[in-house]
Amino acid sequence: MSDNVPSPYRGRFAPSPTGRLHLGSLVAALGSWLLARHHDGTWLVRMEDLDPPREVAGAAEMQLATLAAFGMTSDEPVVRQSARHDLYGDALARLLASGNAFECRCSRSDLTAAGGIHRHCVASDPTRAPAIRLRVPDDTVVSFEDGLQGAVEQRVDREVGDVVLRRADGFWAYQLAVVVDDADQGITDIVRGADLLDSTPRQILLQRALGLPTPRHLHLPLIVDADGHKLSKSMASLPIDDDAPLPALRIAWQALGQPVAVLDGAPTVAAALRIATREFLPDRLPKVTSLTFAAAHNNAAAGAV
Ligand code: GLU
Repeated sequence: MSDNVPSPYRGRFAPSPTGRLHLGSLVAALGSWLLARHHDGTWLVRMEDLDPPREVAGAAEMQLATLAAFGMTSDEPVVRQSARHDLYGDALARLLASGNAFECRCSRSDLTAAGGIHRHCVASDPTRAPAIRLRVPDDTVVSFEDGLQGAVEQRVDREVGDVVLRRADGFWAYQLAVVVDDADQGITDIVRGADLLDSTPRQILLQRALGLPTPRHLHLPLIVDADGHKLSKSMASLPIDDDAPLPALRIAWQALGQPVAVLDGAPTVAAALRIATREFLPDRLPKVTSLTFAAAHNNAAAGAV
């Protein structure tokens, strides 16, 4: 990302309320917050609560409380996807009307032979409730320049196939909701974990099909354990402590490639964030897709994998 991003910069942090925030999510939250502050922008929190089976009661409130304990609150009222079904319905209706989306009754097992990738319908049960998919034409290559990871290219028809927009069980797919919301909220800069790097090309395709602008993207490294597992799964027992946020804030700051010593002696989160806002340099962000937890503690760059 260049330093002369046109204003107004609008960024966001968009957690799914599936549990408490962990160090990996704190790194994404702090990174998106610092970049928004660095560009004198607006920072929004959006609760991505569209998948009740995966959600944990009370998690959304816990996540917002944790963000507040770390000094990060949304500059505008928090948006909850569960209250925005109409927006997703309108977008889907447009995609169906334009012929970009279609009903599909293929089950997961129907697609096993094709490696789970949908190119044409092979449904074995015509009475099954349909999912709705985005038609991805043959030879679809999407490329974009990530603000941290550089040039990214994906052959979407082969690597992803036709994208589910609404699942057969009636739930909205993340891919559709995120694209509709980022446009509706005027997001100019998507900053999030590198686990979503692979999703970006299909989101760009959806933006094009809906005639929406494509924001800039910057994918931050994921924090992984020594075996390379995503921290959220393997170290879920390491929630960050709302009552003593400074140690985790220091680790997250360091994981973002910033010099930890500048935070020495900051007595409060507010003081630490003031210093962090002043000292933050985007050029120091580690240009890697993952960092080991130990490296985040010690020297972020040395642990790049
Ligand atoms: N809700 C998604 C997650 O928690 C992130 C969505 C996004 O940042 O685009 O993984």
